[in-house]
Amino acid sequence: MEQIQHASLVCASCLKECDHEVTYAGRLVAAFKCSNCGTQVNIQVADDYFPDVGRRLASKPRRMMRRFRKHPLGYTLSLPRAVATKPREVLGEVRLAIASRQPAEYEGDSSPPLDRSIESPAPPGCEQ
Ligand SMILES: [Zn+2]
Repeated sequence: MEQIQHASLVCASCLKECDHEVTYAGRLVAAFKCSNCGTQVNIQVADDYFPDVGRRLASKPRRMMRRFRKHPLGYTLSLPRAVATKPREVLGEVRLAIASRQPAEYEGDSSPPLDRSIESPAPPGCEQ
């Protein structure tokens, strides 16, 4: 299952700083959703997600041992729940990463955000 957190960000569509729902696929930001206007920006994370999963899996035994050494009882007691929920969590991440392979998607109540890079004048000395 993907992880959802909240952050105060400036929306590219309504230009207001407000709470955004930030969806993670593992350690990667996969989407932002503005709580003010509902604009959602999905980010293509598949190309980075799958190599990251490999690194996470490779380092998992070391991270498990480190957590066990710090909190042997707490970690041992948390294992049954982790074993039961982790596969579902990773499956949700994989689904999100695969879904992100679709072309960039915009969902919102108003017009899509403008491409601000087009509006920005070239910095001095960069004209060609
Ligand atoms: Zn907004």
